[in-house]
Amino acid sequence: MADWIPAQVIENRHWNQDLFSLSLRANIEPFKAGQFTKLGIVIGDNLIQRAYSFVNSPQQADIEIYATRVTDGLLSPRLHALQAGDTVQISARASGFFTLDEVASSQHLWLFATGTAVGPYLSILGQKEVWHKYRKIILIHAVRYAADLSYQAEISALKRQYGDQFIVQPFVSREPAPLCLTGRIPQAIADGLLERHVGLYLTPENSQVMLCGNPQMVRDTKTVLEAKGLIKNLRRKPGQITMEHYW
Ligand SMILES: Cc1cc2nc3c(=O)[nH]c(=O)nc-3n(C[C@H](O)[C@H](O)[C@H](O)COP(=O)(O)OP(=O)(O)OC[C@H]3O[C@@H](n4cnc5c(N)ncnc54)[C@H](O)[C@@H]3O)c2cc1C
Repeated sequence: MADWIPAQVIENRHWNQDLFSLSLRANIEPFKAGQFTKLGIVIGDNLIQRAYSFVNSPQQADIEIYATRVTDGLLSPRLHALQAGDTVQISARASGFFTLDEVASSQHLWLFATGTAVGPYLSILGQKEVWHKYRKIILIHAVRYAADLSYQAEISALKRQYGDQFIVQPFVSREPAPLCLTGRIPQAIADGLLERHVGLYLTPENSQVMLCGNPQMVRDTKTVLEAKGLIKNLRRKPGQITMEHYW
């Protein structure tokens, strides 16, 4: 990680009680879609720092971070309380390998996210490259309540732009919601529900998969994908499952 520099808060959009998006302006170094930065606030004598994925694509001027206020969390409640004009520290250099250049070409790209982990996918989907690389892109976004499905306007705009190439399947676990599947992602893969719903088979031959967010979803989904013959994607041994844990 490079030096810390100040970022000015342009906007703090509150989607609901806990979910928020920070627009920030700072002179950071170029980054790749899917990477993360670090935000920091001095608390007492310490700079408390945490990782946050970019939501904006690299070509966009302002930085966008999509986060949730974790009850009893150290940093996220303070980020949630920031207002336009405030300053927060940001790492000038981005980190991470959850990027498209680490993922092989295939017919289909499946993007699985829980909660705020939809962010890095929005960054990736904002670049032309991904739409040239895969014939179908399937975004699976799992949340607890329908009101947690943020960024619907941006997702609808991509749907309008890319039509049948882009399939979006939300999961809402704690209430019934129109057009959403209930239950959990790993189970829906294991029993075939997701593939039936989406109308595509997920095989090692035709798919690459990215998993991001809640570590339990990432682990459990990896396990059911391995049962279907997919393997973890490593540089020394390329596979089909690329992962990022948020905690
Ligand atoms: C590579 C990477 C990228 C990340 N990107 C994002 C991001 O884009 N948006 C984001 O909100 N968080 C992201 N995180 C998580 C973030 O770094 C912090 O852990 C989170 O904001 C909580 O910090 P805190 O100091 O408030 O909580 P802490 O006092 O550090 O408590 C940590 C606990 O908070 C919970 N938690 C952490 N992150 C989340 C989350 N996203 N949703 C629900 N519960 C969570 C877990 O139970 C975890 O054990 C990312 C983490 C990593 C490693």
